[in-house]
Amino acid sequence: MAATMKALRKMQPARGLQMDTVAVPATGPTDVLVCVKAASICGTDLHIYGWDRWSQGRIKPPLTLGHEFCGNVERVGDEVTAVKPGDFVSAEMHVNCGHCRQCRLGQAHICQNLRIIGIDQDGAFADFVRIPASNIIKLDPGIPEHYGAILDPLGNAVHTVLAGPIAGQTVLVTGCGPIGLMSIAVAKACGSSTVFATETNEARRAMAKKMGADVVINPASEDAVKRILGETGGTGVDALLEMSGNPMAVQQGFKALRAGGRASLLGIPTENVPLDLVNDVIFKGATVQGIYGRRMYETWVEMTALLKAGRLNLEPLFGQRAPLVQFEGAFAKLQEGLPGKILLYPNGVGRSN
Ligand code: NAD
Ligand code: ZN
Repeated sequence: MAATMKALRKMQPARGLQMDTVAVPATGPTDVLVCVKAASICGTDLHIYGWDRWSQGRIKPPLTLGHEFCGNVERVGDEVTAVKPGDFVSAEMHVNCGHCRQCRLGQAHICQNLRIIGIDQDGAFADFVRIPASNIIKLDPGIPEHYGAILDPLGNAVHTVLAGPIAGQTVLVTGCGPIGLMSIAVAKACGSSTVFATETNEARRAMAKKMGADVVINPASEDAVKRILGETGGTGVDALLEMSGNPMAVQQGFKALRAGGRASLLGIPTENVPLDLVNDVIFKGATVQGIYGRRMYETWVEMTALLKAGRLNLEPLFGQRAPLVQFEGAFAKLQEGLPGKILLYPNGVGRSN
């Protein structure tokens, strides 16, 4: 195989990304080299592209981006037994240390020494990506490759939805970005009764309907809390799935939560969010959960089982497909707020099944 490959990289501590030619990653005895078939752009990639304050503190250029992908195994290290060349795979891109307290307690997703491939080391916006064998997920060949490319954010959605009771529950999803939209589909597939969704962007509200939301509310033009309390007989929803990181949405979510309900918070606010702890958490007897990443590997087992069973229709989410080298147009569209996901193909644009 060739010694070099193309990769989409942050080359300088400044706005923008560049295509570059780099060495194909060397693999150690426990590594897997994957030939990337399809990759997808995450909100985090947009932040790194724009070189915001968070990126400036975290990213050390030069770095190949990309943490949502699927592909085929190209080569495996001597000690790897779980996969072989040709296997269709994706990967958990959060790499845990295996020895901290949380890792020992089966909570590897909140490992003390977590490193993220595509953020802390070279990622999947390239012809090939190197992954530790422990993090490789072998996929059923029946899972379409465009679904394989978005398992990272879908896993965020599945983790959040299944972090508490869901069958027969009323649910509020605040924020209909890609993860909120996926959460709507997952909640419906898992038997939730009424799914409410709030979103300020019109195109994303339309998408929320397509994903199966029963009641879609624009909190900028309507009192979302009043509407949800009205539609639930004054009780509120059983579960809040916070997917916006917007302080007002968080506050409204807690107000719309019923006493005894659960609030699962995934959205990442960029500022402190004042909460009425007395009335919205303590007197309500609410269960509040922070949700980070995907449980390793419970979430992956649940997610791939749902996909294999054909329970999740995410087709409305898939918009444009482009060769990796045409990344600029894709990033621009997402920055404009395009609802859904754009797929990038380093090794030839894939089939559209
Ligand atoms: P996104 O930014 O595309 O989606 C957020 C959505 O919230 C947008 O559509 C926005 O219009 C909407 N919104 C803004 N203000 C609102 C309001 N007042 N009411 C309702 N909706 C409002 O992000 P995404 O990629 O879907 O990710 C969702 C959130 O989860 C982000 O905050 C992201 O940073 C975070 N995230 C967390 C994890 C984790 O592991 N905890 C992982 C990935 C992403
Ligand atoms: Zn650890």
